[in-house]
Amino acid sequence: MGNSDQDFTREFHWIMDMLQTIDVGLCVFDREFKVKVWNSFMENHSGISPADIKGQSLFAVYENLPEEWLRQKTDTVFLLGTRAFTTWEQRPWVFKFKNYRPITGVEEFMYQNVTFAPLTSIDGSIDHVCLIIYDVTDSATHRKALHQSHQDLETLSRTDRLTGLNNRGYWEECLSTEFQRLKRYGGLGSLVMFDIDHFKRVNDTYGHQAGDAAIQSVCDLLRENSRETDISGRYGGEEFAVILSETDEAGARLFCERLRKAIETNTVVHDDVKIKFTVSLGISVFDKPLKTHAEWLVQADRALYLSKENGRNQTTIYHTR
Ligand code: GH3
Ligand code: MG
Ligand code: MG
Repeated sequence: MGNSDQDFTREFHWIMDMLQTIDVGLCVFDREFKVKVWNSFMENHSGISPADIKGQSLFAVYENLPEEWLRQKTDTVFLLGTRAFTTWEQRPWVFKFKNYRPITGVEEFMYQNVTFAPLTSIDGSIDHVCLIIYDVTDSATHRKALHQSHQDLETLSRTDRLTGLNNRGYWEECLSTEFQRLKRYGGLGSLVMFDIDHFKRVNDTYGHQAGDAAIQSVCDLLRENSRETDISGRYGGEEFAVILSETDEAGARLFCERLRKAIETNTVVHDDVKIKFTVSLGISVFDKPLKTHAEWLVQADRALYLSKENGRNQTTIYHTR
């Protein structure tokens, strides 16, 4: 053997050694999915030794693979002779290996990015594909945690602290969206605003904390008396607003009267003191001539004002005439 042959053989062994011990999965198979290479990463994580899988069909020995998807992807690689990829975002894993990472021990399975590389034989033909499997559990976990905290922050930024209802800013966004939807596609919609009667007295008589408890109880009753599709918000201190989708005048009146009576008959107990109060409500039914959601809001507020004017603890519907 010449010197260069020796070099080649030695380097070849080194390369094989390195591929065995590298912290990346390598799996080579032919057009029949018969496995040719199965490195120690694959062995360690699957519990299947190279001896048990080499020469066998991948799907026969390693069950639980997304067979149809793998076949399609591989077909494309053979057909085009180009690489293909899949990331954990598209598909969390191809090989469902358990996750043993100490840092990200919370994840049950290993997240993977996988490359499909076509292998060219000496005669130039492509008869094998190499799957390169990267363990990306750490970064996937961190990315997911980051995403979750973004979502938490977003929820926090649209929620009123005291009641957990939508805050004014977010509620107005919802109103604008609903208004545009009604303008474009038509349909029914009613807007309700209501305000606690003589709330100053509640605060003055029982204290601010009792006032807070009263506001919270209004919110509870509002939740009990509205539908999943209704969008409620805390519009101001003791002022609330509700978008009733697919609801006409009669439906809105029914909703308001039910809520009004529920609040009227409710007793808030705070520090052993019983507190009773009422609310005044205003309704504006969506109508085509309305130009902006703000205009819709003003109408509901006018109706609410009339309820106050006429003696409180009642519902008024806005009418143009
Ligand atoms: P009206 O029947 O005309 O609505 O009388 P009112 O006393 O309810 O009306 P007004 O708007 O004058 O008073 C509202 C009071 O609500 C004043 C304010 O101190 C109180 N308030 C606003 N936000 C809060 C809150 O978050 N907690 C408490 N405890 N009180 C609040
Ligand atoms: Mg009030
Ligand atoms: Mg008020």
